Amino acid sequence: MKRIALIAHDHMKDKMIEWCSKHRAVLARHELCGTGTTAARIRQETGLDVKGYKSGPLGGDLQIGCAVAEGRIDIVIFFSDPLTAQPHDPDIRALLRACQVCDIPLANNPSTADYIVTSPLLDK
Ligand code: PGA
Repeated sequence: MKRIALIAHDHMKDKMIEWCSKHRAVLARHELCGTGTTAARIRQETGLDVKGYKSGPLGGDLQIGCAVAEGRIDIVIFFSDPLTAQPHDPDIRALLRACQVCDIPLANNPSTADYIVTSPLLDK
């Protein structure tokens, strides 16, 4: 079982719901968490059990970055919005950096996320 963090910026949340629905059966076998609003929407719209941290702009990305640094997250699926400036950009960069430092697989779009959840490494 992998510990998977799910995060999506506002304009990307529909894509995240669509992606979670497509991979629902696989995701249901793993331990899921996410930033507050993303986690709540996934719970409501897919029925998956997703632990919610704080909302991203209020510290949720930092909390997930901290969990990555502490070895409590195995995979991060983060559909960031490439076309909109984010007030919490420093927090986002900290999370991305933590993933790179800790060698945590990180998907920033649905195609990359597809590769990760269909990889044979998912069950190793
Ligand atoms: P949210 O946070 O899921 O609480 O909207 C996402 C983000 O902006 O990082």
